[in-house]
Amino acid sequence: MNLKLNLLPMKCSWFFALAAWLPIAVQSQDLAYAKQLVDTLAGDAYHGRGYVDRGGEKAAAFIFGEFERVGLKQVQYQEFTHPVNTFPGSMEVEVDGAHLQPGLDYIVAPNSAGSPGCKLVLVRLQAKDVESERLFKRFISKHQWGKSALVIEKGLFALIGSDEVGKAISGNTFGAAAHLILTNDKLTWSVRDNVLPYIQLEMLTTALPHSATNISLRMDQVLVPLFNNQNVLGLLPGLRTDSFIVFTAHYDHLGQMGIDACFNGTNDNAGGVAMLCDLARHYAAKDSPPPYSVLFIAFGAEEAGLIGSKYYVEHPVFPLGQISLLINLDLVTNGQDGATVVNGSVFKQLFKLLKRLNEEQGYLSAIKVRGKAANSDHYHFSERGIRAIFIYLLGEYPYYHDVMDTPDKPSWAGYEGFFRLINELVGHTAIY
Ligand SMILES: [Zn+2]
Repeated sequence: MNLKLNLLPMKCSWFFALAAWLPIAVQSQDLAYAKQLVDTLAGDAYHGRGYVDRGGEKAAAFIFGEFERVGLKQVQYQEFTHPVNTFPGSMEVEVDGAHLQPGLDYIVAPNSAGSPGCKLVLVRLQAKDVESERLFKRFISKHQWGKSALVIEKGLFALIGSDEVGKAISGNTFGAAAHLILTNDKLTWSVRDNVLPYIQLEMLTTALPHSATNISLRMDQVLVPLFNNQNVLGLLPGLRTDSFIVFTAHYDHLGQMGIDACFNGTNDNAGGVAMLCDLARHYAAKDSPPPYSVLFIAFGAEEAGLIGSKYYVEHPVFPLGQISLLINLDLVTNGQDGATVVNGSVFKQLFKLLKRLNEEQGYLSAIKVRGKAANSDHYHFSERGIRAIFIYLLGEYPYYHDVMDTPDKPSWAGYEGFFRLINELVGHTAIY
């Protein structure tokens, strides 16, 4: 890897410029501003910043306006397209006539097909049915699958394995109209770019009584082959225009699952965008330009597979080779238990510095190290040899990729300390 550890020339003038620019006014993060941005972006009006009701597009426009308002230059969109499976309209599920709540009682598999309306007989798969291929075939032969929903308790998958029975179920070779997976776990949604030839739901075991006999479904589903999406960029030009510190945060989330279930995405990642804008506001408000340029990027389509950041790395607006350091912000609205640094064990010197600065000032309760992980938008940068880290805050917060990740939930315990730590790191990064 090409680790760019030697960053700026150690000229005296740079020291002076930097000294003037270092985080003297460390109080200047603005938690009230960050919370206000989160209330906006994670509000229902932004529809979970995804693929329904132009939620993502509205969020991008808001961030564009905010970048301009705080004084960034060359604010621009970077447009790209990608396929995505969407659930834009009706999402009605009834079990024996009783209405289930989308997002709370069930989630639709992100690659599920839809239905204009159907009523299906519930057929439960039992452990005895998967004991052998012969018993499974007998079970299959007893039902009219075009009018039936196969009900599988999640625990059964451990018995099924990947043999012929497993293949038949995962390939739905018998043509069930729907698969219903019952779980006692938390419902966790995601985004997919393809669609199955049948309906699949994940449901809480409690939402489907054992005595239930039928399920009615009406679900609007549209696979969009070329969804128009965008990144948002803003620049704070520095004294040097050929060396960049880059802050990134993805603004997209999962969107809506039908009209009623909004995945607000507060901690993931309205909070990261709020910190991105807060950093932009903080740096842009200084009297003097920074010694190096600071680039702010709000990425789209992270939840769809890091698509926006991959597109940027393949079509960079500013030279990738001039990035001294990239800090990706995702999951930053809690932090009572400190932070984890992804790529910390890849960029050891940087991690050591971060840890030392934190220990000296006690910004966060702990800084943990982690290796490489393709779990957010830093990934495609560090794969290119760019010194890119992803820092996320820790602390009890069970609301991940579900309808409960709403603006009232975060503790905000680590936000201010984290903001100060980043400031200090960036200041030191330029001179070490
Ligand atoms: Zn996420």
